[in-house]
Amino acid sequence: MLDYIVVGFGLSGMSFVEELENNNKTYRVYEDFSQKSSRVAGGLYNPVILKRFTLAWEASEQIKEAIPFYKSIEAKLNKKLVSELPVLRRFNAAEEQNKWIEAGDKPLLGEFLCPELIRNENEHLDIPFHYGKVKHTGKIDIKTMLSSYAAYLEEKNAFCNQPFEYEDVVVKEGFIEYRGVPCRHIVFAEGFGLKKNPFFNYLPLLGNKGEYIVIRSLELQLKEAVKSSIFIIPLGNDLYKVGATYNNEDKSAEITITAREELEKKLQKFLKTPYEVVDQVSGIRPTVRDRRPLVGTHPNNQNIHVLNGLGSRGILIAPSVAKQLYAHIELGVSLSKEIDSNRFDTL
Ligand SMILES: Cc1cc2nc3c(=O)[nH]c(=O)nc-3n(C[C@H](O)[C@H](O)[C@H](O)COP(=O)(O)OP(=O)(O)OC[C@H]3O[C@@H](n4cnc5c(N)ncnc54)[C@H](O)[C@@H]3O)c2cc1C
Repeated sequence: MLDYIVVGFGLSGMSFVEELENNNKTYRVYEDFSQKSSRVAGGLYNPVILKRFTLAWEASEQIKEAIPFYKSIEAKLNKKLVSELPVLRRFNAAEEQNKWIEAGDKPLLGEFLCPELIRNENEHLDIPFHYGKVKHTGKIDIKTMLSSYAAYLEEKNAFCNQPFEYEDVVVKEGFIEYRGVPCRHIVFAEGFGLKKNPFFNYLPLLGNKGEYIVIRSLELQLKEAVKSSIFIIPLGNDLYKVGATYNNEDKSAEITITAREELEKKLQKFLKTPYEVVDQVSGIRPTVRDRRPLVGTHPNNQNIHVLNGLGSRGILIAPSVAKQLYAHIELGVSLSKEIDSNRFDTL
């Protein structure tokens, strides 16, 4: 009997698998690459909401857990995955500078906001009101992390590159059987794919489509992530990710011309040097009606669980909610009401 089946290997599924590894559990992962949120993400970790200058939900606690978590994966897989990367917020007016300085006086937020205004020294960017700099920010190479971790699992025969078929689940007394294989628990970590899951599709997962363009600019030579109405994130080799869009209506997987036009228009407001668009990517963020994760056990089956709803901040949230779900399943630790999926009724 397997201890676990994990469905989905994005940031949620991988974080849960790491818990299983650390606790010597047996498991198998199913991943069909139908969703791309984790693999197309900007990869930034930044605890501050740069629109309003507030801290993101529980971000100052999450960051303490998340960075050591990714560094331990970096060591285990022997790949460079975590790099510090300054995040600069471009101010649009003097009032924003004042708001930033005020926000920096707040107890928790103050740890993350540099009080000094930073002067722009890059002639290819139009930054008339200077920058505010966020401290303790960086970038995770999620694509490399997931593909290297998947390769590690393949070697252990624990990774199935195929869709998980819900109709093949047989509920038994105290365990589950999937295609003849008994297992103690199934954890569904499917991102927006949850919509097709008959056990959990009653949950109010809304989904928000995000698109990035990737540009090449030889002159720009930018070393920091710059946030105006959109981000410019340096990727190395004169490439930059520019975005992302937020779209609540379109839930299709395809990239769109509308998104590209929107991003280029915003970019041209402050980028003053030639560039070419070399790529475009899209994914659906697993957003929830009340903007909190969906973590917990099915109301009618103690062996079926969900780990979802990471929204637009999966990097910081995933390690801590995966740990909480594991402690809930194995040790009976109660989940906080805020994240417990049972805060929503079945239909
Ligand atoms: C454009 C964009 C930019 C973003 N930028 C950032 C950022 O800079 N920083 C940050 O912290 N967050 C960012 N996010 C948010 C972050 O990507 C998400 O919070 C996170 O990826 C969600 O991870 P997940 O594992 O829950 O879902 P997903 O990444 O969607 O993973 C779910 C996995 O389950 C698989 N799956 C689904 N159904 C099945 C099935 N039946 N059988 C087998 N496999 C299945 C899918 O193929 C998928 O790989 C961004 C998101 C987008 C779209």
